[in-house]
This record gives sequence, structure tokens and C-alpha cells, in this order.
Amino acid sequence: MAEILELRCPVCDRVYQLNDIAYTCPACGEVGTLEVLYDYAALKAQLNRDTLRNSQQISMWRYRDLLPVAPDSAVPPLRVGFTPLYDTPRLAQMLGVRQAWVKDDGANPTGSLKDRASALVVARALEQGIEVVSTASTGNAAAALAGVAASVGMKVILCVPAAAPEAKIAQLLVYGATVLLVEESYDVAFDLCTQMCLSEGWYCRNTGMNPFTVEGKKTVSFEIAEQLGWKVPDVVLVSVGDGNIIAGVYKGFYDLYQLGWIDQMPRLIGVQAEGSAALYHAWKHDRRAEDMQPIDAQTVADSISAGLPRDRAKALRAVRQTQGAFVTVSDRDIIGAIPALARLTGVFAEPASAAVFAGAQAAVQSGLIQRDDTVLLLGTGNGLKDVRRAQESVAGGLRVAPTLDAVRQALHL
Ligand SMILES: *Cc1c(COP(=O)(O)O)cnc(C)c1O
Ligand SMILES: [Zn+2]
Repeated sequence: MAEILELRCPVCDRVYQLNDIAYTCPACGEVGTLEVLYDYAALKAQLNRDTLRNSQQISMWRYRDLLPVAPDSAVPPLRVGFTPLYDTPRLAQMLGVRQAWVKDDGANPTGSLKDRASALVVARALEQGIEVVSTASTGNAAAALAGVAASVGMKVILCVPAAAPEAKIAQLLVYGATVLLVEESYDVAFDLCTQMCLSEGWYCRNTGMNPFTVEGKKTVSFEIAEQLGWKVPDVVLVSVGDGNIIAGVYKGFYDLYQLGWIDQMPRLIGVQAEGSAALYHAWKHDRRAEDMQPIDAQTVADSISAGLPRDRAKALRAVRQTQGAFVTVSDRDIIGAIPALARLTGVFAEPASAAVFAGAQAAVQSGLIQRDDTVLLLGTGNGLKDVRRAQESVAGGLRVAPTLDAVRQALHL
């Protein structure tokens, strides 16, 4: 395993030893989501990017030497990661940029990028002989934990808002998880889950609270860099709710930059829904993560609905350190982005994921993205996750009687 140097709090910069602490910074409380730091000098001496070229592993475990898991310990068998990265010239042309790619993490086993985090958390739980894992979720993190845990027979207890999309809830139940449908928002479900975990001793995967979710999610950046021949895009667009994915994307590029495997960090643009834009406002008004107040989040994109983004400190830092930005998009634009992205690229995305397309358009319009930039849109979740919103985004099909005449008439032939 990559030798872990320390856990560091991005708010107060205090460092902790891995064994001393399970979740957030004791000095800062829940805003102090801890970051895993490695001995980069030691890693640099042992590894180089050519080692990967011969790797037979076509999954996130390809990067195992850069992950906090021992070399000989078992990892869950589901094939998470190494998702496709598509060159999408029609999208580039439509946006008016030099080159555009889509990284399709909706192609993961449970249909979202969250699989990366859950695979790593379950791998660590296996190492420690943990029997019960738990998380709060708007749906995808729960599905990821349920699926990955099912692959190794681990017990899972989940807290999700009762109003989560049907397909997501069905997925959890199919995997055999114990599902608590909380008649409240994600934010309330999160606090409930935290309390349950602390009182019952279940291992908590809650986003932001568990320092290892980011370590799993960072593998998406390793893949982007490797799939593009170690020449990273100028801009990477990421939809943002809690801010854990954008923190993971940042951490992946940060690790590679520290190792000297890439020679620049991409600008990270976080895309938020207008009705769930706490990080956008904090960024715009130059506010500190510690001073952010909860808002009442409302958006059709359930996966990015977060009143008080749990990984706010790291998300703000990811954008500020890379000279990136936050943009907001309306629910209407998010729904419209579902067919627009699908038709330009062949990638069918759920609302939160399609939001990056609307965000890219907004960023081009406001000059945050320039004509000679290369841009990557991170697809975070599969379109089948939320069939109702997909249906809302398109006109119905043509109902016909099974005759040639009826077809000709319907098609105006
Ligand atoms: C979780 C999720 C996001 C947002 O990730 P955060 O870490 O909450 O910012 C975006 N899109 C999809 C599909 C997700 O499941
Ligand atoms: Zn702290």
C-alpha cells in the first residue's frame, strides 16, 4: 500500500495519525473532513507511470499502489472504474471549444461514480473485519454501498430520503440492504445516519465524514490522465452537491502532480443547480467553508441536492486552488441537457450528471471556458437511475397500429 503519511484537516491544517481517528477533525467538527496524505517522495522512488502500462487490471485497482489498501488484502470483486472516456467532436463543436471529452462513470456496476468510493470503503472494512457498513445518501451512494457490499456478503444499513427516485430505492432493496426511508431531506437523513453509526458502532461511509470516499473517487482522475496519455484537459466540469466528487477529482490530479506524472492541474468547474447552490454562493462571495449556513435545497437533480454540502471545505479549495469556478444551472436547463448530451455523445445521463452539459454551456457563455480550451465533462450517473425525469425531457413516442399505412401516416411519408 501507499504509505499514508497522515490525515490532514483542510480547515485548520492539523495533522492526525491514521489510527487515532475514524472520521472528521476533532478540533473543527464536521466541516473538517480529513484528507489522506502520502509520502510522495517515497512513492516517486518506487513507482512511475510506465509501470501501469503493463497492468492487467482494468478497474480502479489498477492504481492500487496509490490507494490506502494493503497490497495483499482482498478487494471487492465488482469491476469498478476504468470507465470509457469518449472523444466527442460534435459536443466540442456545439460548445465552441478546441476539444471535448466525456468520461462516462454511469457505466460503473451500480450506475454511478459512487461505486469508486464504496469499493474503497468496503475494501478497508474488509481489512478491519468490520461487519456492518452504513450510509446516508440521496440514492447513488447507497446503491453503490449496497452493490459492493453484496459482492462480499457484508451487511448494509441505509438512510435515504423517502422521496428518492423509485429506480434508486428499488436498486437498494434488490441488493438486500436494510433501507430506512426517511420522511425528510437528505441533510436530515445524513444526521440521523451519523447518530446511528456512532451509537451502534457501524462503519460509516457518510460523504465527507469518511476520509476514504475521496480516495476512491480520485481514481477517476488517474484514469482521465492515463486515458489521455498523461496530458490533462484544460478544464474539467463536475456536478456538485456535497462536493465530495470534485474533492476526489482534485485529489487525484493533486497526487499525480505531486508525483510529477502530469505537469499541470486542470481548472475545475463545479456545476450546481440554482436551487441547491450553497457552494456557488460561498465561492462568489469569498466566504469560508466554516461560515456557510444551511439552505433549503430544491432541485430536480436529486443527486446534487444538498443544503449544507458536507465536503464544502475541500470543494471550495479544489476550485480556488485550480483557478476554477462554480456555475449554476436551472432545473429547466438540467432537464433539457439530458437529451442534448445523449444526442451529441451517446451518453445517457441522470439529471445531476447531465447538469455538466448545461454547466459547460453556461461557462462558455460567461467566458470561463475559452475557444482554445480542451474540456472534459464528467458523467457521474446513468440515465436509467431516474426514468421519470428522462421521460419529462422528451416528447412521447409515436403510437401506431401494426400496419404499413399507419407507420407511413405517423412518419408523414
Ligand atoms: C453524488 C453525485 C453527484 C455529486 O457529488 P457530490 O460529492 O455530492 O458533490 C453528482 N452526480 C451524481 C450522479 C451523483 O450521484
Ligand atoms: Zn480541523
